[in-house]
Amino acid sequence: MTAHPLFPTDLDRLPHHLIDGAGHSGAGQPRALIDPATGESYLSVVDADPTQVGQAVASAKGALRGWADTAPGARAQVLFRLADLIAGQADRLAAVESANVGKPLSQARRDVIRAVAYFRFYAGCCDKLNGDSIPLGPDQTALTVLEPVGVTAHILPWNYPISTLARGAAPALAVGATIVAKPSELTPLSAIMVAQLALEAGVPPGVFNVVCGAGDVGAALAGHADIAHVTFTGSTATGRRVMQAASAPVAGVTLELGGKSPVVVLADADLGAAADGVVRGIFFNAGQVCAAGARLICHRDVHEALIERVVERAEALTFGHPLDDPDLGPLVSASQIARVDGFVDRARTAGLRCVTGGHRVRPDALPNGLFYAPTIFTDVPADSEIARDEVFGPVLVTQICEDADHALTLANGSDFGLVAGIYTADASRALQIARRVEAGQVFVNGFLQGGDTVPFGGMKHSGIGREKGLAGLAAYCATKSIVLNH
Ligand code: NDP
Repeated sequence: MTAHPLFPTDLDRLPHHLIDGAGHSGAGQPRALIDPATGESYLSVVDADPTQVGQAVASAKGALRGWADTAPGARAQVLFRLADLIAGQADRLAAVESANVGKPLSQARRDVIRAVAYFRFYAGCCDKLNGDSIPLGPDQTALTVLEPVGVTAHILPWNYPISTLARGAAPALAVGATIVAKPSELTPLSAIMVAQLALEAGVPPGVFNVVCGAGDVGAALAGHADIAHVTFTGSTATGRRVMQAASAPVAGVTLELGGKSPVVVLADADLGAAADGVVRGIFFNAGQVCAAGARLICHRDVHEALIERVVERAEALTFGHPLDDPDLGPLVSASQIARVDGFVDRARTAGLRCVTGGHRVRPDALPNGLFYAPTIFTDVPADSEIARDEVFGPVLVTQICEDADHALTLANGSDFGLVAGIYTADASRALQIARRVEAGQVFVNGFLQGGDTVPFGGMKHSGIGREKGLAGLAAYCATKSIVLNH
């Protein structure tokens, strides 16, 4: 067991899967959970096998009618209660999430609060899922009703386990759909804990199931004949596989995939605010964020002054055990740090200029931790690997632009299109760029803002579908139209 005093000591009492309201141990491979700050193993979770995936889907299918027919106000009460229970367990959930992912405790706490907000927001939507009436003349009436889509699969990433779970589970449950969630093999704990709290809140057995395991468990779930919708967050490569698997049951998909999001800083920008936004945008959660601002596109006249500020802030960031709430925790796994190091090595070999970082960090107290220094490569060519591909670590690249049009060309010169940031004092220019930039969400004079009620999702290789806010309900609703002759 990891030695940190804030780490919960009773995790071995957690079940490994929750199927039809009951805790189960796995029938597949055992898997050790490793504290990425120390390299120590603290728990073993046994994967589900394909039979257990089938049982979870069958239980979600069996529970569907009853949950869909529960009065909307009653569904809302249950989801409000779940939000309250999560809020009541916030310290414990945040500690587990922090240690499991390696993210600073205050960031994990924010994720838990965000999960609470999702359940509250969508609880409030239960009784507002209105349909339409469509004029067809005096002898006919057409109505639309919104029905739950059916059994939904939720395949979760390791970087934001609890908030990603809530982002999909809350709207699905609000409309009356049932769910089977599959957390990442690296970070299964918060999903199991939330599913237990859902039962305590009054979510009926079978409505909210969790099966743990690796990609094979996710693949079995995504392609299961009784799945109506798959919500997936992860890499673009795996997203494509999920989309293919979901074609077997002709299931809908929401895919929230990778990014290489641009932050444009024009010559008239407030450089202090821009530097704060750039540093937060790429070094938050050690850069393991799909929406990270990984490409700084900066006007030539202010590039040097901005880089100076960004480097100064980056070099002041602290490392430590995530439960001690440093600025930067470790990366999630040995393979993730090897991936980041590989990108950095290849960029150096290609002759690109690294102005800070570019190496692992071994704090005295945590010599085996998977820490990586905030890293910045300046003035990189648009076609270099490190400017094109998602690194998913604390690595920023800069590109120099000559004017707003050039900035837009560089910003759109990516296969990805998740989010974009624009720093300028000229509001109408900001709006022009915002309207033309290929991204699902744009921030002006700020970055990664707007919270839980603003729709989020990608263009191009960054995904399909929208989550958060009212737009997040659409994936889980099937519109039925009824035409009455009278
Ligand atoms: P993946 O995209 O492979 O994993 C995401 C989720 O999908 C996990 O639950 C994973 O399970 C599951 N999965 C894996 N293979 C399949 C499959 N064939 N069918 C269904 N589900 C599957 O991400 P990784 O964890 O391997 O990370 C690799 C890279 O992905 C990162 O370096 C980063 O670039 C990107 N990524 C992007 C995220 C985002 O927020 N957009 C989040 C996480 C990663 P398991 O983990 O148990 O194998």
